[in-house]
Amino acid sequence: MLTPKDPAPFEIVNAHGSAPCLIVCDHASRVIPAALGAMGLSEEARLEHIAWDIGAAQIARRLAQRFDAPAVLAGFSRLVIDCNRYLDDPALIVETSDTIAVPTNRGIGDGDRAARVASLYRPYHNAIEDALNAFEARGTVPFFISVHTMTRRMRGREPRPEQFTLCWLHDDRLARPLLARLAERDDIVFGDNVPYGLEPEEDYTVPEHAMKRGLPHLQFEVRQDLVADEKGAHLWADLVYDLVADLVLAPDLRRIEHFWP
Ligand SMILES: [Zn+2]
Repeated sequence: MLTPKDPAPFEIVNAHGSAPCLIVCDHASRVIPAALGAMGLSEEARLEHIAWDIGAAQIARRLAQRFDAPAVLAGFSRLVIDCNRYLDDPALIVETSDTIAVPTNRGIGDGDRAARVASLYRPYHNAIEDALNAFEARGTVPFFISVHTMTRRMRGREPRPEQFTLCWLHDDRLARPLLARLAERDDIVFGDNVPYGLEPEEDYTVPEHAMKRGLPHLQFEVRQDLVADEKGAHLWADLVYDLVADLVLAPDLRRIEHFWP
């Protein structure tokens, strides 16, 4: 489905970074393949949080630079296909997102669905697998970092107070010390799995790539109004880096440990 006018289905930043760490960003892009036009959406809708995680790509790029680690960024909008959903999840290709109808996705045929999976979803996830296999081939257990951002306000809901949310499940290697550090700070309003946790039945990327391999991992969300420009994104990326860098790089945390499934 992609044409020469379209970007690649993923981008690898700092491919030869030296850190034992892989950064991924499922919702980095709001690009829609040229073949799908505007998907029946207004420009306003195509710019907002339903299309992408505002600021997340800049956070991921900054973390890749700070760690000197590779990062894999998805190349297309979650409205085309959500790279953080299982293939059998109805939310893989949404008909409605935060009350906005997505006309092109209504009643999508099997052929169009398969084309999006083959052209966009698979290449992104294969790139992540390739990067992890490269670490394994070097005998390195990488730390897996998944970057997300969340809207300040879903339609019809109260604004969210959380500026930063740690999304975690059984593996507390990073979660416990990070939550303790966050609790010591009075300048960050943080959520412990609030408003989002790490849900193996919804989230795909961390369970599939990191948890199944037993890799230590970090999934987090930063609120989008704080990171909508480069300055804010870099400030929050630096803050996250300062909070976790010694843990991510500590050899004793980078072990294979099967907490799930
Ligand atoms: Zn996201």
